[in-house]
Amino acid sequence: MVIDVRKCNAEGKYTGTLDFEFEGDESLIDIPFVTFASPVHAVLDYEIYEDNSVEVKGELSFTLKGACSRCLKETEQRILYEAEAFFVPRGAKAEEEDYTYRNGIVDLDEFLRDTVLFALPSALFCAEGCSAPEYNEE
Ligand SMILES: [Zn+2]
Repeated sequence: MVIDVRKCNAEGKYTGTLDFEFEGDESLIDIPFVTFASPVHAVLDYEIYEDNSVEVKGELSFTLKGACSRCLKETEQRILYEAEAFFVPRGAKAEEEDYTYRNGIVDLDEFLRDTVLFALPSALFCAEGCSAPEYNEE
C-alpha cells in the first residue's frame, strides 16, 4: 500500500483515509501453534503537511487462532492496535522514529510490518482465567 504524495499534492487532496486488508506475515508470530485467522484490516488516516511530511494514524485489527499457550485448547483472539507514524522525504530533517520516503511515494509496507510486530501478543490464552495462576504471581 502506498500514498502517492505528488499526486495528492497536485490534486489538492491533503488528507484521506485508507481502508484495506493485507495478509499478515506468519514469520512475525512468535507463539507456538498460532497463525493469523484473518487478513490484517487497516484503517488509516493520513495528512500531508506543507513540508511534505506525512502523518499516518489509525488502527490495525486481526484475529489470531491456535493453541492456548497454557492449556493447548484451540482458541481465537481479536487484536486491535492503534498506530501512528511520520514519513519524511529522504534528506529532510527527521526524528529517529520517523520513516523516510523518496520519489514522492510513501510506502507503508515497513510501517505495517512493524505495527503488526508491536501488536502481536507474546502468548495466546483461551480465557483470562487460563493465564491467571501463572501470570498473577508476584
Ligand atoms: Zn487455555
